Amino acid sequence: MKLYNLKDHNEQVSFSQAVTQGLGRNQGLFFPHELPEFSLTDIDEMLEMDFVTRSSKILSAFIGDEISEAQLAALVKAAFTFPAPVKPVESDVGCLELFHGPTLAFKDFGGRFMAQVLAHISGDKPVTILTATSGDTGAAVAHAFFGLPNVRVVILYPEGKISPLQEKLFCTLGGNIETVAVKGDFDACQALVKQAFDDEELKVALGLNSANSINISRLLAQICYYFEAVAQLPQEARNQLVVSVPSGNFGDLTAGLLAKSLGLPIKRFIAATNANDTVPRYLAGGEWAPNATVATLSNAMDVSQPNNWPRVEELFRRKIWRLNELGYATVDDDTTKATMRTLDELGYVSEPHAAIAYRALRDQLHNGEYGLFLGTAHPAKFKESVEVILDKTLPLPEELAARADLELLSHFLPADYAQLRTFMLRGK
Ligand SMILES: *Cc1c(COP(=O)(O)O)cnc(C)c1O
Repeated sequence: MKLYNLKDHNEQVSFSQAVTQGLGRNQGLFFPHELPEFSLTDIDEMLEMDFVTRSSKILSAFIGDEISEAQLAALVKAAFTFPAPVKPVESDVGCLELFHGPTLAFKDFGGRFMAQVLAHISGDKPVTILTATSGDTGAAVAHAFFGLPNVRVVILYPEGKISPLQEKLFCTLGGNIETVAVKGDFDACQALVKQAFDDEELKVALGLNSANSINISRLLAQICYYFEAVAQLPQEARNQLVVSVPSGNFGDLTAGLLAKSLGLPIKRFIAATNANDTVPRYLAGGEWAPNATVATLSNAMDVSQPNNWPRVEELFRRKIWRLNELGYATVDDDTTKATMRTLDELGYVSEPHAAIAYRALRDQLHNGEYGLFLGTAHPAKFKESVEVILDKTLPLPEELAARADLELLSHFLPADYAQLRTFMLRGK
């Protein structure tokens, strides 16, 4: 597999290089040189396969012979150990539940596949994973790499801006997992990570590697569950499918669009955001004008400078698709709450992120279409807000219950690169 840097098309790398480097020169994102396509017959056959077999085929179409098919299948099998069921919510709407993994959020798919791939290609060379999280990536990355030999993981998150339970989920592991609460918002954490990756000396000293949604392996892994969703739908729905994606950094949407580019029949996508609405304002014909990030109920989407957006634009350019065919919506916190209550009345308990996607879908779905919204996190992951909004108590899933009483092991730092650097290099 060949990839190029979106900021400098002359920088061309292999899949292994893209995975180990994370970002290219000038913080450019890597993008696939070839965009494989399956025929309709291929797709029909693939939809009959089991999740792991089909996913290996999809990933192998991109990755090519850099990893043998048998090895790739083993990595996929080790990563995708949990299902992605479609739950019917209304006659014409279903939720693709992506939260049945160890950290109860969709980021388990990308995080676990990335960990497997990285461990596979690094062999015995030590690596340091540095990533910023607004909540869920951190947990997924921490659990995916926990205990893997030769891997040190450092995770930055905005202090006080993620839910207490989310924090417990990944800041209590210890071992090869170090967590840092940064005084600042998610964009500040992301900026620190970018600075570290611009620091050649640090990069070499630590074998730095990023594991957030910019890593191409995460993105490729996420393509697979769009296929898994379609495989569960009846033929009528497959032909009229609209998918609504709750979006923050736009990795999930990028993966969905890549699934479509492979030939998966998806009529239309809707990019749904909270009040951090840089993309909806841009798609409405405005300028690219990020505002300061605001805190919302759907905190994993509190991102005003979505870092995967250049990939979305590149894909539209390459496929000669029109950006104005991409649906979009902004859903504020009051509407999110009201929508969670509506879903509850329909017999479906949801959380703020998925509710945003459902709202956008319900508002934009036409007669005769079938709509899927992505359930990106388990409602219990946002227990504090969900219980107040729905006025009911939620049982804590085992994964969370087991961690809730453990001591937090986080370090605390200001949003200052020099101090982060010292922290990263201690003991070196
Ligand atoms: C990360 C996250 C999102 C946003 O996904 P992106 O790929 O960053 O757009 C949505 N919902 C939840 C629960 C998340 O953790």
